[in-house]
Amino acid sequence: MNADLHCHSVVSDGTLTPEELARRAKAQGVALWALTDHDEIGGQARAAAAAAACGLDYLTGVEISVSFLHQTVHIVGLGFDANDAPLAEGLERTRGGRSQRAREMSAGLARVGIHGAFEGALKYAGNPNLISRTHFARFLVETGVCKDTYEVFRKYLTEGKPGFVEHRWASLKEAVRWITQAGGMAVIAHPARYKFSANEELALFTEFKGHGGLGVEVVTGSHSAAESVNYTATALEFGLAASRGSDFHSPDESRTALGALPELPAQLTPVWQLLADRIQRAPTAALI
Ligand code: AMP
Ligand code: MN
Ligand code: MN
Ligand code: MN
Repeated sequence: MNADLHCHSVVSDGTLTPEELARRAKAQGVALWALTDHDEIGGQARAAAAAAACGLDYLTGVEISVSFLHQTVHIVGLGFDANDAPLAEGLERTRGGRSQRAREMSAGLARVGIHGAFEGALKYAGNPNLISRTHFARFLVETGVCKDTYEVFRKYLTEGKPGFVEHRWASLKEAVRWITQAGGMAVIAHPARYKFSANEELALFTEFKGHGGLGVEVVTGSHSAAESVNYTATALEFGLAASRGSDFHSPDESRTALGALPELPAQLTPVWQLLADRIQRAPTAALI
């Protein structure tokens, strides 16, 4: 099944609206879709309506920023009740502090001669409460400091670089709890992206399971084929269901198009099998 359960809209750091994403997903052959904006579910109603309008099955989604062992880990939530109050409050708290962090990032960039980055990044943020490193990256490309956003991250926005500011996000326990108590499934996003030692990664998976986490992204736009093989073994070892998602942000920046991913390995349990009763089915034409 062509499921794409990870992508971003203008509600966080993507460049397309939820409606544009739904149409694009449909055109790409996606059958089951989830919009997973960072720390924000403000696009869920629009995404679900757009999915229904263009004949896509839909799962609610979010990607929560978590601090774990001094790194940022992303936990995707799928199939939750988007009207759940504790989830909304938790996300609001997680978003808090992004503006202050952005001002500190801007100050760091000013020290190396790049001025006006806060205002420049804000211009790109469709949601002013969700100013992210991606918006800074777009500004630094626009001003010709770097040739693409990948170069910006490498030179300016990652640990040890002038625009990087350490930030305290939600705890792993909180993120898993908010998602799970809202009736959804928590999924470790793009595990190969983190720079954990083997022991630290073991701690991540063990604690995640202990808190009630049930899934891991095995096939994602952030993984090579070898990394997908590696995390297939991890999913089996920890008894986790497997998810699949492009992590699409923008037609100009993303390396993986919506839905353009390998199938999940057959020995894994897809997350959508466990979430069958949470899928918002697209209306089908009535039989005559
Ligand atoms: P933030 O939540 O503000 O820390 O921004 C994180 C976002 O920046 C991620 O969701 C990606 O969209 C993007 N990102 C993070 N690291 C990189 C990287 N090395 N190269 C390109 N984009 C990145
Ligand atoms: Mn992003
Ligand atoms: Mn992520
Ligand atoms: Mn993402």
